[in-house]
Amino acid sequence: MHVQPSRRLAGLSSAIFTEMNQRKRAVEASGTFEVIDLGIGSPDQPPSPFIMEALTQAVRNPDNYGYPTSEGSLRFRETVASWYFHRFHVEVDPDHEVLSLMGSQDGLAHLAQGWIDPGDVVLVPDPGYPIYFASVNLAGGEIYPLPLRAENGFLPDFTNIPADILERAKLMVLNYPNNPVSATVQEGFFEKVVRFARENDILVAHDMAYSEMAFDGYRPPSFLETPGAKEVGVEFNSLSKSFNMAGCRVGYIVGNAQIIRPLAIIKSNIDYGIFLAIQEAAIAAMEHDILHPGQNRIAQVYQERRDVLLDGLAAIGWKIDKPKATMFVWAPIPDGWTSENFAFTLLEKAGVVVIPGNAFGQEGEGYVRIALVKPVDVLKEVIERIKKSGIISR
Ligand SMILES: *Cc1c(COP(=O)(O)O)cnc(C)c1O
Repeated sequence: MHVQPSRRLAGLSSAIFTEMNQRKRAVEASGTFEVIDLGIGSPDQPPSPFIMEALTQAVRNPDNYGYPTSEGSLRFRETVASWYFHRFHVEVDPDHEVLSLMGSQDGLAHLAQGWIDPGDVVLVPDPGYPIYFASVNLAGGEIYPLPLRAENGFLPDFTNIPADILERAKLMVLNYPNNPVSATVQEGFFEKVVRFARENDILVAHDMAYSEMAFDGYRPPSFLETPGAKEVGVEFNSLSKSFNMAGCRVGYIVGNAQIIRPLAIIKSNIDYGIFLAIQEAAIAAMEHDILHPGQNRIAQVYQERRDVLLDGLAAIGWKIDKPKATMFVWAPIPDGWTSENFAFTLLEKAGVVVIPGNAFGQEGEGYVRIALVKPVDVLKEVIERIKKSGIISR
């Protein structure tokens, strides 16, 4: 076969993830360890029983087997609007300011298709969730990375972006609580974003996948709570992390109707929406949350894991700040290692998979991302293995 696949594929590099997987399989094949995978950020818990029950009921309803619509059922969109009001006191119109997504990934992947042409610039956090980069590349746009650094509290600094970039920038992606760096937003930052977006005519897309996965009583704010935010921006949210429904592929975008519209047009051409039974289960999850505020216990599991892992690692000499949210720990690596060498060695000597920080952008160098996706007893085993491996010298 001499036919070549599209040049577009080159913009979807995932070389480090592929390499980690290959090395994991090699270690497994060698039989030295049963590998503990703290690489992938997929929730390991099932949804609450009432959600699975709602799904079961809906699956048995013969009316749910026609084509859905890509924008989502009216009841789904109304429930999203109610949930946003109850959770954040943000008002959105279910008709034009809410659009269902087959996971927020769907919207994150396709928003640029509706907004970005070759030559347009998108400001993307570095390190960042891989689809932010991939979606811009697929649209033929240009990425301008916004470094997220510890000294700035992992918030981007808008002051030194070159004028020609600002001129061509159409869209900015933000994500708090953040994956991979697990930082949360600081007071006043979103106000700064609205001002910056207005002054430079840049649209804002805020990814809020971890809105319900926060610890120690912290409640992450919606970007749309900020005065003026709905004039410049949209927010992505999802039931994947908030209700352990990752495999259901159900999420949504809310906010500015004009920003959502091109995405809705793209989607109406390429998909027919989410299976109605899954929309019903999502409605049940959100309605339950509205009626029983503060009873979503999903974060507690991760909070306990965070404490067990980080207290244990501190005791063997690896000190890592405790994140206030997300299912990830962004761990600075000891001196003398690159992120990749450290992750590869951890796998070979301790049988533990973590992701090298530079997999998420060059600013991730010097860190690894550890996902809290195993129960406490497994995390204790991780600490024990790391101790034995001698990788962390006191
Ligand atoms: C998990 C995650 C999502 C959610 O993706 P879905 O497609 O809704 O499952 C979005 N953004 C970030 C940063 C994530 O980590």
